[in-house]
Amino acid sequence: CGIVGIIGVEPVAGRLVDALKRLEYRGYDSAGVATLESGDISRRRAEGKLANLSGRLASEPLSGRIGIGHTRWATHGAPTEQNAHPHATTRVAVVHNGIIENFRDLLTDLAGDGYTPNTQTDTESVALWVTRELDNGADPELAVSRTLKHLRGAFALAFLFKGEEQLLIAARRGAPLAVGHGETEMYLGSDAMALAPFTSRLTYLEDGDWAVLTAEGVTIRDAHDAVVSREPRISQASA
Ligand code: GLU
Repeated sequence: CGIVGIIGVEPVAGRLVDALKRLEYRGYDSAGVATLESGDISRRRAEGKLANLSGRLASEPLSGRIGIGHTRWATHGAPTEQNAHPHATTRVAVVHNGIIENFRDLLTDLAGDGYTPNTQTDTESVALWVTRELDNGADPELAVSRTLKHLRGAFALAFLFKGEEQLLIAARRGAPLAVGHGETEMYLGSDAMALAPFTSRLTYLEDGDWAVLTAEGVTIRDAHDAVVSREPRISQASA
């Protein structure tokens, strides 16, 4: 239901949770974050309130400087820790707002190659599809662009990749998503409110856009993979 992401110069887990708190008004039933710990994807997730996730992070901290976070409003699969986002394989973690309408077809196709889900969510089909593309030799950008062409439904997505300390990829189709420009960091958020403590300089993705964020900036492509220019705006949301 709410998405946040940070390519940071300092640990991000606490700030991801703070940004998620600013999206609480949307409602949610569970929450989670994923960061890279020495290059490997590591997750903390919890049912219920964000305080439960904070408690989890207090007892099992994450120190990564890049990460993604999510508050979930379950549409497919019960609101359990197992079904909470981020969904991940060893190679990629994903957070998702909305619904992947054709996830059953995707899972059937993936099962033919031995990629089987561990959750009841529609979202895990996306993590598995990207993983198969990566296993087949695609780099993260190509893996995501190929995957997006197979997805039906309305969604916003954010991806974190094993070993990629300065890369987040995001996509928007029918659910809002903004890129935040910091001085030395880059951000992703469902709305300006979430990012207000970090930056007021935002680029809103348009429908069908997908974005490659690095510490240096962002490259945005449209649904046909053509690079497009989207002017940053100064948000009035207050921190
Ligand atoms: N359809 C996804 C799920 O049920 C995402 C729901 C959301 O937008 O939070 O896990």
